[in-house]
Amino acid sequence: MVHTDTIPLSTRGFADIIDITEKVAAIASTSGVSNGIVTVFCQGSTGTITTIEFESGVVKDLQEAIEKIAPSNIPYEHNKRWGDGNGFSHVRAALMKPSLSVPLINGAMALGTWQRIVFIDFDNRGRNRSIIVQAMGE
Ligand code: ZN
Repeated sequence: MVHTDTIPLSTRGFADIIDITEKVAAIASTSGVSNGIVTVFCQGSTGTITTIEFESGVVKDLQEAIEKIAPSNIPYEHNKRWGDGNGFSHVRAALMKPSLSVPLINGAMALGTWQRIVFIDFDNRGRNRSIIVQAMGE
């Protein structure tokens, strides 16, 4: 069977990192799927779904690493063409991918003890997002 739901989020942008683990788990547990896979997907090309140990040190370290990989203060061709100033957001999102798959085993997501599912909004402004969660299996 397949069950699809969404998580509405309002974000602050600029690598805002939001823990959505409980919301994904709630959808997975009411989905009717016990064994299969949960896919979490971010629509749009300026965000990513990944997992981290969600504590303030890791959050800060990751934000700083991202700033080094695709700096926000250098020129981007995208900005020259479109003038929306979020070239860095698109590069970051492409490198980190828009979706994540988590195995669902006997009704529980197979996450590690400290592993949390996060949405990172790379855009250069706050956004209202709709994260798609799809549970597939039996
Ligand atoms: Zn853009």
